[in-house]
Amino acid sequence: VKRLTRAAVLAVGSELLTPSRLDTNSLFVTAELNRHGIDVVFKSVLGDDADELARGLEHALGRVDVVVCSGGLGPTADDLTRDVVATVLGRTLYTADDLANGIRRRFEARGLSMPRINLRQALVPEGAVVLANQVGTAPGLWIEHGDQVVVLLPGPPRELRPMFEAVAHERLAPRAGGRVIVQRIVRVTGRSESHVEEAIRALYRDWASAQVPVMVTILASLGQVEIHLSARAPEQSEAHRALSAAVEAVEERLGADVYSSDGRAMEQIVGDLLLTRGWCAALAESCTGGLIASRLTDVPGSSRYVDRGVVAYANEAKTSLLGVSTDLLAAHGAVSEAVARSMAEGVRVRAGVDLGIGVTGVAGPGGGSEAKPVGTVAVAVSTVLESRSRLHRFAGERTLVKFQASQAALNLARLVLES
Ligand code: ATP
Ligand code: MG
Repeated sequence: VKRLTRAAVLAVGSELLTPSRLDTNSLFVTAELNRHGIDVVFKSVLGDDADELARGLEHALGRVDVVVCSGGLGPTADDLTRDVVATVLGRTLYTADDLANGIRRRFEARGLSMPRINLRQALVPEGAVVLANQVGTAPGLWIEHGDQVVVLLPGPPRELRPMFEAVAHERLAPRAGGRVIVQRIVRVTGRSESHVEEAIRALYRDWASAQVPVMVTILASLGQVEIHLSARAPEQSEAHRALSAAVEAVEERLGADVYSSDGRAMEQIVGDLLLTRGWCAALAESCTGGLIASRLTDVPGSSRYVDRGVVAYANEAKTSLLGVSTDLLAAHGAVSEAVARSMAEGVRVRAGVDLGIGVTGVAGPGGGSEAKPVGTVAVAVSTVLESRSRLHRFAGERTLVKFQASQAALNLARLVLES
């Protein structure tokens, strides 16, 4: 039989077409398919509409080996997936008595009688394999259609996940391409998406034509650029080896701007560096309003290296809590590298710790000037050995400026700790 290599995911449910619900099942299904070496080549979100569903399914069957549908297996009239799939594949539906009894027992176990409509969930297209639902009433279905496979899964993520994990392992993996796809994410800060691309583009051709090919996607997000590398190979170890080499080549080209290549977030990286040194940190935050403290303390175990954070918004607070002199504030203005340095040093000395971080900036929308427009942020790091600072100019509205400021401050701390 033909190997299964290409898949499509159809997320069914009108609620997924509203602003209030997001399709997350396809992300889980994609990760699971990739693990077994099956690519997802497209996905769709479809409302509870028989015509749309039928056309969506026909389209998918024209393009891929595996179609995975999530949702619309419930008992109510808007749950159409089972009927539409049976129609499109030309199968009649029959009532599976064991399923009907199982559903009835689930109700009785809770002291309820089974509503008649639940019998719909015991309908099975001829030739389908029923996938047990350990968590809910809607069973899943595995349907082979020539060389192709259609998998129907219930919508609730906690029901879908264990079911798909099991079926992927037991039924898809043996028929998959015999390859695995492994992914690694390299995170970069301080460079734009296009600068990152420019620096590493020369590597793409070799990656694509290598014996274990490495695919690359560059994603810009707030305060960082992510390079997603994925390798496909017959064995996990080969894929990992190809990825390690690719990551090394990226690091060589981007140098210290790469802050993470093993999945760790910036706050975790800084925390681990502090731990390695046996150091403690204290924070003096103005425009970030405690965001740096919040991010650092998102990491479990951060009490080992976070001492305190001071939110010093007003100039008087910078003076009384951190010892920033009024002369300095008058000479340079609150948003300046000199003040950020003084804040970092002030909090470090007062806390009696090894490293201090200071941030001061104009988050906007008001408060900007010609010399210091909205988005101007000074960050500083102070240790017994040195004091470093940088002035940034970030784009975007208030919360975006705050996040980028926190990222820049943590990154400066990382550079100091790595040096
Ligand atoms: P049942 O009706 O038996 O719960 P179902 O298969 O009909 O199962 P839906 O009614 O479509 O599933 O969805 C049930 C729940 O699962 C809803 O809360 C829905 O928002 C959620 N859900 C459905 N599809 C997705 C999806 N693609 N991603 C995340 N959540 C989803
Ligand atoms: Mg539904």
